Amino acid sequence: MKKIIPIIIVSVILVLIVGYFVFDYSVKKITEREVKRITQTDRVTQGEIDRIADDIVKQRTEEITRQILGGESETGAGKLKEVECDKTPTQRQFSSDSYYTGPLIDAHLHMPFTFEVPKAIYAEADWDAPILEKEVFAGDIICAFDKEKISSAFGFYVVPNLLKGQAVGILPEIERQHKGRIIPFLMPAHVSGLDLKPNEAEEVLNSNKGMFKGFGEIAFYKGSFKGIRPDDPSLLEIYKIAGRHNLIVMIHPDNNQKQAIEKILKENPNVKFLFHGENMWPWVDEIIGAYPNAYYSIDANLFDLPNEHTIANIYDSEKEEFVSEFKGSFGRILQVNIEIWKPRIEKHPDKYLWGTDRGYGWHFDADVGALLEEISRSFIGQLNPEAQEKFAYKNAEMLLESTRNQ
Ligand SMILES: [Zn+2]
Repeated sequence: MKKIIPIIIVSVILVLIVGYFVFDYSVKKITEREVKRITQTDRVTQGEIDRIADDIVKQRTEEITRQILGGESETGAGKLKEVECDKTPTQRQFSSDSYYTGPLIDAHLHMPFTFEVPKAIYAEADWDAPILEKEVFAGDIICAFDKEKISSAFGFYVVPNLLKGQAVGILPEIERQHKGRIIPFLMPAHVSGLDLKPNEAEEVLNSNKGMFKGFGEIAFYKGSFKGIRPDDPSLLEIYKIAGRHNLIVMIHPDNNQKQAIEKILKENPNVKFLFHGENMWPWVDEIIGAYPNAYYSIDANLFDLPNEHTIANIYDSEKEEFVSEFKGSFGRILQVNIEIWKPRIEKHPDKYLWGTDRGYGWHFDADVGALLEEISRSFIGQLNPEAQEKFAYKNAEMLLESTRNQ
């Protein structure tokens, strides 16, 4: 009997070792196949495919090994850099008649990537995001909030299906150090083959209970979502999941999707939908008025001349150009946006939310933040007093409240 026990132990170890190599091999094969599919359209060489696949296999294997060993599955846990923060409010650079000085909640913020993925694999989404704790630090983002008196933000975290553990790993630490400042939304990758399928999304939600308060942004004008309708069956499934987990669903519709949007609003009365983007301007007011579960954030468009779209395009690319164009047109941008949005907001004061649509590294720079803050507060100051706080933060608070109560 005594001899049997060591034999069993040795056999178990052998099986584990063989299993590990078989597992490792199949992860590699699956990854290679996926990478090939994802990069197909971009004429990537076999050498590059191999390199990308190797990278992902390495990350994935480390992730799984850590999970098997029962250690920390969080790649970045405990590793938030301490950032020195000068919280002195910035000097205003322009004059405006009345200026809102109260709290703000940013309802549209793209968080830097919490994972690393080779650029070629992300080309489809056309989204050159900085890497968190490498190019932009969580501390920098919170510092910008403190300086600009932003109490919190709906923060969109991209979670690719192949890197779920790594992408989500650092979130508990951000929450621990900066409690309630960044409200996590689970954002699909917008790359075919990396987007979370409904069951995978639910798996992420179940294994991180209560962490996410929203799903999105889902941007139907770009990457893998281009050409898909908001009422596509796979998305109908996502809205059901959002209903079960009390999530806000954040959508940027493409042109001509009004019918599909109305359909999902009607079919999911228990889900709050937050929209944004100019593609729905012709009908946003109608939707907002007709459906109690429809909300809209006015964000990057506040920093733009809506009929020209010149400045929004620069907000999407170069800092120096943005700063100079923006400063040169400050008064005009403010005036045009007041004309467009003030009547709409005052007609439905409970339905519009403020945001910044920050996402690139330089969007978090203090000089850029100062400009975004100043035009936003000048704009809000022009709304009638009952609408100001609702637009600035109360509607966002109310939406958040709904994720707790349902
Ligand atoms: Zn966005």
